[in-house]
Amino acid sequence: MANCIFCKIAQGEIPSTKVYEDDQVLAFRDLDPQAPEHILVIPKKHIASILALGAEDKDLTGHLLTEVIPEIARNLGVDINGFRLVTNTGSDGGQTVEHLHFHLLGGRPLTWPPG
Ligand code: 5GP
Repeated sequence: MANCIFCKIAQGEIPSTKVYEDDQVLAFRDLDPQAPEHILVIPKKHIASILALGAEDKDLTGHLLTEVIPEIARNLGVDINGFRLVTNTGSDGGQTVEHLHFHLLGGRPLTWPPG
């Protein structure tokens, strides 16, 4: 999508610090980290939010959740003490970039509930 910042990152038009990449998925460090490890995991395909996922995305979401995110967590070492996975959705959810992304946050104890 033309004006989507995460599409531009996925296409390499905007630089990012990558921690994982395959043909369907990219994971990179958040520009404004909220924890020692703060990774954004995105599908390369433009999907606006979790609400825009369709039946055709089942393989992609399965790959993300069962393979990619656990692998990133293990590579970062946050599988040992744990981490948080968040996908902000819509304005009340605090979503500021309209391209589906999962925040993987770890490396310190995280409080709950969020603000
Ligand atoms: P949201 O608020 O939509 O849940 O999360 C968007 C995230 O994208 C924010 O944590 C923000 O810091 C991050 N972000 C926005 N623009 C960029 C960018 O150009 N590069 C990187 N690495 N992160 C970005």
